[in-house]
Amino acid sequence: MLTGEAITTNKCLMCENVIEGKPWISVDMGCIVHVCSYLCGKNIDTKLGKGYWKDVINKEDFDEPRPTCQTQNKTIGGDITTGFGLDEIREEIEQENQRIEMMEIEYEESSEEDEYSDGENYY
Ligand SMILES: [Zn+2]
Repeated sequence: MLTGEAITTNKCLMCENVIEGKPWISVDMGCIVHVCSYLCGKNIDTKLGKGYWKDVINKEDFDEPRPTCQTQNKTIGGDITTGFGLDEIREEIEQENQRIEMMEIEYEESSEEDEYSDGENYY
């Protein structure tokens, strides 16, 4: 276990913010670089290249609390953009389907109402 005893000030490789406490991810590229958060870590390969994972120091952090998509993407072939895009599209389709379903329900309801009010108009 790493302890927070010797807290050094680290700068995030991506956004250059000072990282307080433990970095999100640390990579040994000859010199050690740190990334502050999941969001910055997502784009880390733009700076370090796709093969950076083998140099990650705190790999164990990613095995338990969050089996991140990073490991999944690796099996797919490291194509992060495609993976994310598909997920988003799938989600959008699902939302669209729900919206259509809602509209259909509303339509049925309102057409019933129309009949009703039509009937009323006749009297
Ligand atoms: Zn950052």
